[in-house]
Amino acid sequence: MKNKKLVMIPGPTPTVRTINDQMGRETVAFGDPVFVKDFSELIVDLKQMWRVDGECFVVAGSGTMAMEMAVANVTKRDDNVLIVSNGFFGDRFIDICTRKGLNVDVLSAEWGDVVSPEAIEEKLKEKNYAAITVTHVDTSTGARAPIEKIGEVLKKFPDTIYIVDGVAASAGEREYVDDMNIDVLFTGSQKAFGVAPGLAIVWAGQKALARRKSLGTIPEYYIDFEKWIPIMNDPSKYYATPAVNMIWALKESVRLIKEEGLEERYDRHIKVSNAFNDSLEAMGFKVLAKKEHRCSTLSTVLYPEGINDAEFRKTLAEEGAMVAGGLAAYAGKMFRIGHMGNIDDHTVYSAIAAIERTLIRLGHKYEKGIGLKTLLEKI
Ligand SMILES: *Cc1c(COP(=O)(O)O)cnc(C)c1O
Repeated sequence: MKNKKLVMIPGPTPTVRTINDQMGRETVAFGDPVFVKDFSELIVDLKQMWRVDGECFVVAGSGTMAMEMAVANVTKRDDNVLIVSNGFFGDRFIDICTRKGLNVDVLSAEWGDVVSPEAIEEKLKEKNYAAITVTHVDTSTGARAPIEKIGEVLKKFPDTIYIVDGVAASAGEREYVDDMNIDVLFTGSQKAFGVAPGLAIVWAGQKALARRKSLGTIPEYYIDFEKWIPIMNDPSKYYATPAVNMIWALKESVRLIKEEGLEERYDRHIKVSNAFNDSLEAMGFKVLAKKEHRCSTLSTVLYPEGINDAEFRKTLAEEGAMVAGGLAAYAGKMFRIGHMGNIDDHTVYSAIAAIERTLIRLGHKYEKGIGLKTLLEKI
């Protein structure tokens, strides 16, 4: 019998039956009272759970659209923007902001490390920045930015809008919008929410909403906060067709999160990621992200001597687990394995077992079974 394929890339993540069922439902009119009620309740939950006294936008699109939406609604041409980049996805903001005609300054970290709050504070003193972008977990490196501490720094800079990219973090890593002084937070449905790709989720606090108002008409149309606010407050209104089935699926994901408990979910991610990292290191791999900055949603894993990336990932896929390759300078040198969202212990064990079978098939010398043994001690 063929092995079931585990989707262990850092998004899309595995989807569970009850979420799939929502995506498979017969579609209804977006004005259907049943759907309108479901959509309204979802928005209320997302605002309460992520603690924002502001708005939450659920709009069809991917995480990249959410990045653009965040920037578009709080800046105008020629504004200064500070981009804090800890890797590939941090750098993506450079392109987005440059195209919009913003003046971009970049603070970058070595891959696997993060820019410190102190360095950010020094930079913010240099000029008036309209906004700052920080990637909570850069999926290329597995490093987690200290978003709460950076939020403390931002209190000293009331004119700067604090944008946090939560695409590989939200619903897996602790994030509370107002408590952490975040102005705009966003994610995509396919990462730690464990829904298929297709929805962007964007939280905006009062300061961000006031900034948007002050900008008047903005050049962007589909991603304009002002256009969506009436819809998010009353989904029976129309602006652009909502992704009905995806919204149901996200609602089911939120129901599962409430059932588990958001705090408990964050703790589970920490436990599972520690188990993954220890297990991988016991097998002879090295984790790229510095220990003190390691995220809980994925592992970035450097190969030991003698393992060929393409061969490893192809064999691992045959053994039933899809993982992602390294990006940029780390292409061919590492693989990235996601462990965020709705994965249970069975999946964790299966993924590590598939990696062990792969190492054995490749004839790699290591202590057979040490990965699974390490897991048994951890979860
Ligand atoms: C995946 C990801 C994105 C891009 O999201 P898409 O849905 O692929 O457009 C942006 N930022 C981070 C941190 C990501 O992990």
